[in-house]
Amino acid sequence: MEIRVHGIRKAFDGAAAALDDVDLTIRSGELLALLGPSGSGKTTLLRVIAGLEFPTAGTILFDGEDASRRTVQERNVGFVFQHYALFRHMTVLDNVGFGLAARPRRNRPPKAEIRRRAEELLALVQLQGLEHRYPAQLSGGQRQRVALARALAIEPTVLLLDEPFGALDAKVRKDLRRWLRDLHDRTGHTTVFVTHDQEEALELSDRIAIVNKGRLEQIGTPTEVYLNPANGFVFEFLGSTNVLPVEVRDGRAFVTGCPVPVAEGIAAGDGRYALHARPHDLVLAAERQEAGLVGVTDLVRVSPGLVRVDMKVDGLPRPIELELPMKAGGWTDLKRGQALRVRIDRYHLFAA
Ligand code: ATP
Repeated sequence: MEIRVHGIRKAFDGAAAALDDVDLTIRSGELLALLGPSGSGKTTLLRVIAGLEFPTAGTILFDGEDASRRTVQERNVGFVFQHYALFRHMTVLDNVGFGLAARPRRNRPPKAEIRRRAEELLALVQLQGLEHRYPAQLSGGQRQRVALARALAIEPTVLLLDEPFGALDAKVRKDLRRWLRDLHDRTGHTTVFVTHDQEEALELSDRIAIVNKGRLEQIGTPTEVYLNPANGFVFEFLGSTNVLPVEVRDGRAFVTGCPVPVAEGIAAGDGRYALHARPHDLVLAAERQEAGLVGVTDLVRVSPGLVRVDMKVDGLPRPIELELPMKAGGWTDLKRGQALRVRIDRYHLFAA
């Protein structure tokens, strides 16, 4: 099922538009992340796609047909929220079969068929043997898988997940991500999930749509958006970054007067820009190397495989963050107050 979101605007009474002219095509069978900060409009967009919310303007096309005025049931979407709202008084099996059992009589499958289908789905989400438990007797991760099985039971054309793993601890989240990716590859449902966690979006999705203040900033594969961000917002949102004021003069770039090599693919006319560089794209330079920023180490923190260093540079308001690979006899020995020279290997320039 291909979903086309065209010119969608959603304004709630008395508030600024939650969505403002959003155009987005979700390809059939893809796993798409809607990524953005809190309040950016991700949930509203998901609810508009689901039919839980009607847009103020614009259209939603399902496989080319206008679905804008169709109800949730007519759109046949499966929906999972952050807080897996399972029915507490129902067993796991009955929870999963609920969507089918609640159908009007004329298209409700017979009881035995509902049971067979629910058992099949519990096998798919790897919960065999727990059919007769109640939600209170399950772990958070198990409950979330029941919620997914329940959403899948109606054989949805589209699966919509709103922060599906948000309420779980880090380890369970990680396991469930891998599991969801695997499930998606086996079932091939067009799936859209909302997250504000960039790592989750990068790890799990085929493509990421980055939303900010009700607008779509960029859409692309995880590597496309990470390596070729459309703007400074996308770059900063996808990982920690250093933002430095830079001046380009005659094709040469200067940070606080120090020359920095002009990175490959950077074509900027003379002027002032914001240079964005990831901490791991800063490299310690040879002592006498001409192009490099000179500074003094501030805080040095060791983490598995890495040494994180804050470096103070005269003329910059904040220290620069470096991530150096840990090597035996290497950077773990860095002390506060040591002079360093740093080369910026990769960076992006955006409007200042
Ligand atoms: P979060 O990650 O915090 O869930 P989000 O990106 O999903 O945020 P939305 O929930 O879509 O953001 O909200 C977008 C904007 O619309 C916010 O300013 C929010 O206050 C507003 N909004 C959402 N739902 C309603 C509503 N029912 N009535 C009024 N305003 C709303």
